[in-house]
This record gives sequence, C-alpha cells and structure tokens, in this order.
Amino acid sequence: MSRFKCSEFSNLKEYVPGEQPRDKQYIKLNTNESPYPPSPATIQAVDSGEVADLCLYSDPECKKLKQAIAKTYGVKPKNVFVSNGSDEILNFAFMLYGKASGAVFADITYGFYKVFAQLYGIDYSIKPLNSDFTINVDDYKSTGRFTVLANPNAPTGIALPLKKIEEIVASNPDTVVLIDEAYVDFGAESARGLISKYKNLIVCMTYSKSRSMAGARLGFCFADEELIKDLELIRYSTNPYNINRLTQVAGTAAMADNDYYMQNCERIIETRKFTTEELTALGFDVLESKANFVFTKHPELSGKDFYLELKSKGVLVRHFETERIADFNRITIGSMEEMTEFIKITREILKEKGLLK
Ligand SMILES: *Cc1c(COP(=O)(O)O)cnc(C)c1O
Repeated sequence: MSRFKCSEFSNLKEYVPGEQPRDKQYIKLNTNESPYPPSPATIQAVDSGEVADLCLYSDPECKKLKQAIAKTYGVKPKNVFVSNGSDEILNFAFMLYGKASGAVFADITYGFYKVFAQLYGIDYSIKPLNSDFTINVDDYKSTGRFTVLANPNAPTGIALPLKKIEEIVASNPDTVVLIDEAYVDFGAESARGLISKYKNLIVCMTYSKSRSMAGARLGFCFADEELIKDLELIRYSTNPYNINRLTQVAGTAAMADNDYYMQNCERIIETRKFTTEELTALGFDVLESKANFVFTKHPELSGKDFYLELKSKGVLVRHFETERIADFNRITIGSMEEMTEFIKITREILKEKGLLK
C-alpha cells in the first residue's frame, strides 16, 4: 500500500467476504444468500421505465421505500432508516456511538463489528461466548458502552429470547444497544416492538437474506426518531444517494409482497430441519439454528478438510480458520434439491475417509 495514506489505517485488517468464485458452477452454500429469486412483482418493478430514468438521481429521502417498510411492519416512517446494505447501518452506528462510548461485542459473531471498531479506533471489549456457544447475557448488561448483538448470532445461528434482549436494552439506558437481526425471519423473536419503549435501541435488518436481494444492497433499521436523525446526519454527510433507483423500486415492491418472502422463509426452515436431521444421522454435531444456515462439526473430520473436500466436489461452504471454531463449517440452507445433493456428497466424503458407520 502507499506511503500517502493516514497512519491510523496501518494496522487495519479488512473484512473478508465469502468467496464468490466464477471458475465453475458450485452449489453455493457459503454466503447465506436465498436460493429463491425475488418475487415476480419485485422483478417487474425494475422495469425499463425505471432503467430509462437512471439519468436522474434517486430520491435521497427514499420516501416510498420507507413508507412500504413502515406499512409492512406497522411503524411510522420516521422510525425507519434505509441503507446500502445493513453493513452501512453498522458502519454509521459504530461511527456515531462506538466512538462516543467504546463498544462491546462477542468473540464469535459477525466479523464486521471488529473491523468497524478498528476502522474508527474504538476502544472495544470482546465477550467470549459460553463453551456451548450461547451468549452470556450478563456480559451485555450495564456495559456503559455501545453494545452490539447479532440475534440470531452468526455464525452459530443460536438465538436469544426477546425477554433476554429486553433485559440487556433496559440495563443500558445511557448507551445505544444495536440488535442485528439479519436472520430474524428464519425463526427468532424480533426486538423491533421495543423501539417505542426504549430510546437507546436500534433493530437492524436486511433484504440480503430473507428477501432474496443480496445483490441489490439494501438494509433497514427501526429506532426512536432521535437515533434515526443521527443516522441521517451521517448518511447526508457521506452519500445521500446511497440507494440507487433500481434498488428503491425493487425494495418497495418486495415489501408489498411480504407473504411471498415469508413463505420462502418457511420453506428454508423446513429444509434446515431436514439438513440438521441428515447431518446428525451422519455423526455431525449441529448447533440449534434459527437462521438460514447451520453451524456444524464432525468429531473425526477437521473443519478445513471437510470444507476442501466439499469444494473439490463442487459445494462451497464457509470455513473460518479462527480460534474456537476452526473445527466447524457454516452451511447455508439452499433449496431442498441443493441440500439433498449436499448430503449425498457429504456421505461420499465420509465413506471415502472410512468415517461412515
Ligand atoms: C449478512 C449480514 C449482514 C449484512 O448484510 P448486508 O448484505 O450488508 O445487508 C449484517 N449482519 C449480519 C450478522 C449478517 O450476517
């Protein structure tokens, strides 16, 4: 890198996204995308008229999009913020609240939290998960810091009940608590109903997983009006046209088609059950997941070997060569056909290694 950049960034370690190889067709179970396409109405919304209007800037207020989200979730538009992927909300929140008070998050959680903390030179405190990978709720009470939790957590898939989340939020009245609900539609309880009761709560969601729009880059969050104004301050101070025209119309149409997406979530929950049962029967340990992935390890096969064997046979999963979880792989729940094929290939691998009883 160049000698011109600010020395503050010398030790910054960037976030590494899951691989997106183009060398061949994989069964892609590594970045928690939806196996289902956007709804027909969503696809139709991005019509040639909107494409022709690309010569004009997008609506910086994102009025229709915010209204559609507010309507679906029964909140007011002033309690909604929209962003270029929910990573952008995390970015802004770390900038606004992490710098102010320091930050708290888990050792095993979404990798971007640490990157943002380092990017902004934030004093952060890491709370180790319990040995069974559950969260120790007391670690997040009265922290005096910006407190960030993914619920369900990633990459474990384990969810905390709403009651515990509320205890955490209530115990931190003087700092912001951000609940990252990227996977909440796959069976966990949302904290969004608490935003009218607690002025320090941000509940963050995304179109990337349950709404089949990872490539559109669209996230949103719910919070008290004052927090939304903070986020808007940063958005208007960095990139007021952060959500392009095509994404705005697609996002608006997708919200109006909520049933389609929630039905797909039901299908994924069923396929997750199938996958969990099959893996368990093959001797894997599978953590109880409320997300569109499972986190699993085999007692006699290293996480890295399983990842590499799968890749050589055309299946991509996510392996983290990280302390405590190097034995595991995170496997996105694809379609029933994909998961049936994944199980078949897994059985082959175990057989070749003499690990099938
Ligand atoms: C995928 C993910 C996000 C962000 O996704 P975007 O595509 O930026 O909306 C945020 N948090 C967690 C825990 C995720 O897994």
